Amino acid sequence: MKYSTGADVVELIAAISQRIDAHKEALNRLDAALGDGDHGTGISAGFCAAAKQVRALEKPTPADVFQTTAVALMNTMGGSSGALYGTFFLKAGLLVKGKHALQAQDWADLFQAGLDGVVQRGKAKVGGKTMVDALAPAVSALKKSVQTGHTLCEALQRAADAAQSGAKATADMAARFGRAKFTGERALGHQDAGAVSVSLMFQALALC
Ligand code: ADP
Ligand code: MG
Repeated sequence: MKYSTGADVVELIAAISQRIDAHKEALNRLDAALGDGDHGTGISAGFCAAAKQVRALEKPTPADVFQTTAVALMNTMGGSSGALYGTFFLKAGLLVKGKHALQAQDWADLFQAGLDGVVQRGKAKVGGKTMVDALAPAVSALKKSVQTGHTLCEALQRAADAAQSGAKATADMAARFGRAKFTGERALGHQDAGAVSVSLMFQALALC
């Protein structure tokens, strides 16, 4: 099974970084429509720093890689999404502490823990036009697929599809959280930048 060791998770962070970087300008444009236009620049810098820092770890466990990623994102990204993405990886890492190899069920559990952390910290609900609108359906699809015996790759592909649909659906939502809540009607017709970055993250994960 791929992505099970610490070294696999290092590769995964690099893959996320590449995918996000390739869509940096598009994410900035989405954030400019609803917020301050910095989401692409911030998250790209965050994952670039994370990819570099996890590559320097010696024989890391998966938890070490998640923890280093969390700190790099919090320190480099800034903004509300830096704290939220950081929390996501911090909670994910705590859940798999001490494990040297992650099974499919571990992935489902760690993503759930990450989502719970984001919701606890940001207080956003599904339908509020935030990253939660991509993250929640992705985690739900991942858990369901793992429970019904799909391979991790299949489960991640379904999670990526669910994240993409969730992100698309944010175009029809009015913003209630973060800076975008001040945009009112203007938010309609534009996908939420954070929901799209979550979708890109799952697309990178699904390339297993
Ligand atoms: P900032 O809003 O500080 O400029 P970013 O531009 O990096 O931060 O990120 C904006 C994204 O953060 C939004 O598109 C949204 O998905 C996410 N976000 C903002 N506030 C919240 C919240 N309370 N809960 C969940 N996600 C949020
Ligand atoms: Mg912004």
